[in-house]
Amino acid sequence: MKITFVGTGTMGCITRCNTSVLIDNILFDIGMGTVKQLERLKIYTKKVEYLVITHFHADHFLDIPNLLIGRGIRKETENKLVIVGPKGVREKTVKLMQFTHSDGNSQKYDRIEEKYNLEFVELENKEEYITEDFKIQALELQHGACKPVNGYILEKDGIKLAYACDTGFCENYYKMCEECDYMLSDVTGLKSTDTHIGLEEYKELYKKYENCKFYAIHRADYDIKGISNIKFPMDGEIEEI
Ligand SMILES: [Zn+2]
Ligand SMILES: [Zn+2]
Repeated sequence: MKITFVGTGTMGCITRCNTSVLIDNILFDIGMGTVKQLERLKIYTKKVEYLVITHFHADHFLDIPNLLIGRGIRKETENKLVIVGPKGVREKTVKLMQFTHSDGNSQKYDRIEEKYNLEFVELENKEEYITEDFKIQALELQHGACKPVNGYILEKDGIKLAYACDTGFCENYYKMCEECDYMLSDVTGLKSTDTHIGLEEYKELYKKYENCKFYAIHRADYDIKGISNIKFPMDGEIEEI
């Protein structure tokens, strides 16, 4: 698997873009600025065959219109795009498109699947999406009052990788650490809350989950000096696993 850390920041972060990770042809999250960042990194949107959305905060899904319209302009729609997300991801996508591009035509996106060659897959807790190449399992996470929020376990080429943004500590989060070889996690600040995970607790997890390699994404501009058991990828960094 080739992991490209497209963005590793949180909202308010001034040195890095909103969090988004591309794993082969699967893009996890697409907040404000992600499409431009893909272009800046010379990845472009044509490579993206699966888009996986965690939740409906702007820094995780607001660039969907930019992606769909850009694909249309660049004639990339001959390839199907599968959008996987929590329940409601189709409705949110249609509403976003209507809000930004309907030009007064309320039916413009009624057949959005046909218009942009899309398929929507809505997953609730523990449901799976399986293709010939990989399996994705959704696990509901805890993110303050925001619901629904899905974390995902991606199983591909014999490797299990967790993507958990945004979340506080919860049962499904620990299940991910237990089961996975890699954890790509929200580590927004230094202290944990019921909305986000903090570095102080995150940097201790490796002791309990020796099987798992820990990565901090969705992070603010805090000091990371002297911490060796966590990887802190920067925007544009690539890792083959
Ligand atoms: Zn959020
Ligand atoms: Zn976020």
